[in-house]
Amino acid sequence: MRPFAYQKVMDPASAVQVLGGTAESVDAAAAAVQPLAGGTTLIDLMKLEVMRPSVVVDINPLAGAWSAIELDNAGLRLGALARMSDVAASGEVRKHYPVVADSLRLAASPQLRNMATLGGNVLQRTRCTYFRDVSYGNCNKRNPGSGCAALEGFNRSHAVLGTSEHCVATYPGDFAQALMALDAVVEITGKSGTRRIRFSELHRPPGNAPQIETTLGAGELISGFTVAGPWPRSIYLKARDRQSYEFALASAAIALDLRDGIVRDARVALGGVATVPWRAHAAEALLRGQPFSDDLARRAADAAFTEARGLEHNAFKIALGRRVTARALHLAATMEA
Ligand code: FAD
Ligand code: SF4
Repeated sequence: MRPFAYQKVMDPASAVQVLGGTAESVDAAAAAVQPLAGGTTLIDLMKLEVMRPSVVVDINPLAGAWSAIELDNAGLRLGALARMSDVAASGEVRKHYPVVADSLRLAASPQLRNMATLGGNVLQRTRCTYFRDVSYGNCNKRNPGSGCAALEGFNRSHAVLGTSEHCVATYPGDFAQALMALDAVVEITGKSGTRRIRFSELHRPPGNAPQIETTLGAGELISGFTVAGPWPRSIYLKARDRQSYEFALASAAIALDLRDGIVRDARVALGGVATVPWRAHAAEALLRGQPFSDDLARRAADAAFTEARGLEHNAFKIALGRRVTARALHLAATMEA
């Protein structure tokens, strides 16, 4: 691990000042000054020398202002420094937004969830082996312009949706799918104040610049997330190689508004299969306005993967993703609301 300076900030204004940067510079993940929340991604990648900040800015003292879990009739607000375990354990979140609680409960391990924050969670980086191992020279995400070792290498965990010829790395998180399905808004604090964007605008597909993963500017911090609701009929289903402490091979976050057997609204987001948190609009369009049935769920799940493209070792994710999506729709439809 390389030497770095450690600095603690006590309030949002000084955090933004110390982090510096401008909203125009977009390669936040490569910035020399990095915010530190739970540290479970950042310190990991610093030990591997994948991330090499010269200054680490500890934002944990902002937790007083940025870790609230607030529910009212209009919806849910979650502070970016709320710990995954606290949100997963909240009775109110579990009752009114089960997809949020499930997505956090099924992620990582209890120790990690106790440490990791929501803001850090959505900004976690891919688990692509070639990205995490610096002995591989050709990784466009880590070393722009160097090529992509995964295309010809072992790509079983890689993405089938949203890929480009420059990068096929899977977005690994779970919580982001819940935020996608619920059409969440992200609150971003920077030098010029606070701005809000739809969560679906936060992550950038790889295109020809996979090193630029989000639309955050350098020096900008995520301060919270808001979701309109409630969505009591919502669920997160995750398929993985082992039943705990493992990333998704395929997952689905579903939110259904079902009345008298008719789908009034449907939200479908997919994880483990795409380069970014993925909203399956085609599936939603098929579901809306229709009487719910398992056959409809299967057709919607097929529609979600129409554009999927498998590589040598990961084509199984297309069939798996369809089954997980159809099953999650079935489970959501049978929930008490
Ligand atoms: P940090 O490591 O502190 O930060 C991550 C990144 O975000 C850094 O670049 C940091 O600078 C930046 N950052 C942090 N907070 C902010 C903010 N508020 N504004 C702007 N930038 C910020 N996750 C899953 O979803 N599912 C899993 O199954 C899963 N399994 C895991 C298994 C293992 C073994 C490990 C190590 C991790 C696993 N994770 C999983 C990932 C884990 O959930 C994330 O590491 C964690 O959520 C990151 O949160 P953090 O607070 O520790 O972030
Ligand atoms: Fe790097 Fe992306 Fe290729 Fe993995 S898939 S080696 S992260 S460019």
